Amino acid sequence: MSFANVHQAAMKQQSRKGRCLHFSDGLQCNEIISAHSIQKRGQLGLIAESGHVYRLNADLSTLKETGGKPLPKKIGVNRASTFPGMCKQHDNKLFSPIDDRPLAIDHHQVALYAYRSICREYFVKENASISLTEMLGHPGLISEQSHWLTGAAYGQTLGFERLKRHKLIYDGCLATNDFTGLKFIVFGSTSRCSLQASGLIFPDFDFQGRQLQDLGPETRDLDLLVFFTAPTDYGWAFVLAWHESSDLSCQRFIYSLAKSGRDGGKIEDMLLRFSLACCENHAIRISWWDSLPTGAKNQAIDFMAVMADPTLGVRPDYLATGCEGLADWSFDNVRDVR
Ligand SMILES: [Zn+2]
Repeated sequence: MSFANVHQAAMKQQSRKGRCLHFSDGLQCNEIISAHSIQKRGQLGLIAESGHVYRLNADLSTLKETGGKPLPKKIGVNRASTFPGMCKQHDNKLFSPIDDRPLAIDHHQVALYAYRSICREYFVKENASISLTEMLGHPGLISEQSHWLTGAAYGQTLGFERLKRHKLIYDGCLATNDFTGLKFIVFGSTSRCSLQASGLIFPDFDFQGRQLQDLGPETRDLDLLVFFTAPTDYGWAFVLAWHESSDLSCQRFIYSLAKSGRDGGKIEDMLLRFSLACCENHAIRISWWDSLPTGAKNQAIDFMAVMADPTLGVRPDYLATGCEGLADWSFDNVRDVR
């Protein structure tokens, strides 16, 4: 087996180790389930065709085939976006306000969507940090491999520690039922939806290419922005949310989005660009993707590659242009809860 294959096998093995990330994780967490980070009925149900969606695939064989670029791959909705990060009892009880009801202007619901997205990322980052650190201890690594592993393990562990701080903030809101610190903007749509996303980002650059915060290792605390799509009683919505402790970067990010809009940019284009570049937890409508011209597909894949390969380095203006006119949906109302 090659080094790359050993690495992928170790990551896969770690990702199967289920555990409950509920804020009151305890003795009763005995039945770990494959929880959907993008809801099966509410979110995936809006875009599934014959029970399937496309999901971004960046596994080694795909990357080898495409020269390092991820590709959408068909997947059944039962398997899409699941992770064993919650026990059955906690998952059912905690998330029932969003799994059983469409999204309204409701701080508690927004906190739950954000929490699900944070738990998934926490699970992924912790796994990567553990498996890379374990691999470092293997005998027989050549110096190039251990050099690469040291850097990768450091990066993942740093990312995990940074995220942990935010999970604790949301743990606290949920444990005390106090959501007053939560801020969000809801872009509502009555049109067809072709993309579902659930993700988070430490915002680095805005839509004009200005730096929001320095993600370098010397910055201790980073602001966190969470985003997700959700079903509403009138259709669906794209939501940007954050806790007030992340106000500095997130308010500037929203200001920049509004400025681009005033300067003639379309919000549909901006949010599509943002979703593709900043989130690897997508589900995509098959017929929409298949209908895109080849040039448009390549452009979308280039945006997705930003996320899949952190070694590419980020251009400050990566959110400024691109993907214009590809979205087949439109937003018709905005609710600003800041
Ligand atoms: Zn549990």
